[in-house]
Amino acid sequence: MKQEKVIIIGSGPAGLTAALYTGRAELSPLVVTGMQIGGQISITNEVENYPGFPDGTTGPELVEKMQKQAERFGARMVMDEVTEVDLMKGSPFHVKTYGEEYEAEAIIITVGASPRRLGVPGEESLIGKGVSYCATCDGFFFRNKDVVVVGGGDSALEEGLFLTRFARRVRIIHRRDELRAGEALKKRAFANEKISFIWDSVVEEVLGEDKVTGVRVKNVKTDEVTDLDTDGVFIFIGHIPQSSLFEGQLELDDRGYLLTDNRMMTNIPGVFAAGEIQDPVYRQIGTSVGQGTAAAMMAERWLEEQE
Ligand code: NAP
Repeated sequence: MKQEKVIIIGSGPAGLTAALYTGRAELSPLVVTGMQIGGQISITNEVENYPGFPDGTTGPELVEKMQKQAERFGARMVMDEVTEVDLMKGSPFHVKTYGEEYEAEAIIITVGASPRRLGVPGEESLIGKGVSYCATCDGFFFRNKDVVVVGGGDSALEEGLFLTRFARRVRIIHRRDELRAGEALKKRAFANEKISFIWDSVVEEVLGEDKVTGVRVKNVKTDEVTDLDTDGVFIFIGHIPQSSLFEGQLELDDRGYLLTDNRMMTNIPGVFAAGEIQDPVYRQIGTSVGQGTAAAMMAERWLEEQE
C-alpha cells in the first residue's frame, strides 16, 4: 500500500488548484484525476468569465495550464478512478483505485458533478446516437442539421450558441417562459437568428430507433403534445453531485452535496472538499478555484497540527 501525505480526488479547477497549493507547501500531493483531467471545464468550449483572460480562453487550455502549474510544484497526476474509501477510522485514510491502494494522511475531495438526465423514454438508449450532454464533444456531428437544446440556464444558452456554429437550426426547449440564464447570454441568444425558443414545454420522449428522429414535447400550460422532427437532443438541465462514493461516511445535504464547515472540512477531520461537490450555489470556475485554495490551505494547517 502506497503512503501519501495528501490525496486529491478529482482534477477540475478546485482539484488542480488544491494540487498547486499543496504542491507549493511541499506536500507532494497525488491527484487521482478521474478518466478526464479537468472535469467539466475540459468539455467547455468558451470561458469568458475567468479573470486574467481578457479575450476569453477555452476549457482545455485552462486545464492544461492549471495542470502544468501544479506539476511545476511537485503535484503528481494519476489517471485513475477511486472505487472505495474508508474514512470512518480516521487518518490515515484508505483509498482504493482501479490500479492501486493508498493510505493518505489528508484527503481533498473535488469530484464535482455530472449532467442531470431528463429521465424520459428514449433518452438513455439514444445517448451517442443523437442524445448528448456535451456540445463541445458532439456539436461537430450536427453540421447543417437540426438540433434541440433542453434547459433554460447559462449552460443551455452557452452550449446552444456554440451549436449554431454547426447546426442550421437550434431550438431551445424550456419548461417556463422565463430563462434562468444571465443577461449577457440571453442577449446573445436572442440576437442569434439560428436560435428560437419553445417556451413552457417539456420533453416527454426522445423519438427514434437507431438514431434520434425527433422529440415529443408537451406544453405545460395547454397540455398540447407535439412531435418535433430533429436530428439531435442536447440536454443541459443542471448537474448532480458525484457523492455516492462517500454516502454513509460523510454528511451530505438532501440533494447529495457534501457538507463542509468554514475551513472546507467535512464531518471527518482531515477530509476536505472543494468545488461543485460541496457548492450548490456558485458553481463557477472562479469560485471552485477559491474553494480549492482554501481547502488546500486548511489541509496543510490541519496536517501541521497533527505533528
Ligand atoms: P442551472 O442554472 O441549474 O439551470 C438548469 C436549467 O434546466 C434551468 O433552466 C431549469 O429550469 C432546467 N431544468 C432543470 N431540471 C429540468 C427538468 N427535469 N426538465 C426540464 N428542465 C429542467 O444549470 P446550468 O445551466 O448547468 O448552470 C449551472 C451553474 O453553472 C450556474 O450557476 C450557472 O450560472 C453556471 N454556468 C455559468 C456559465 C457562464 O457564466 N458562462 C456557463 C455555464 C454554467 P428552471 O429555470 O425552470 O429551474
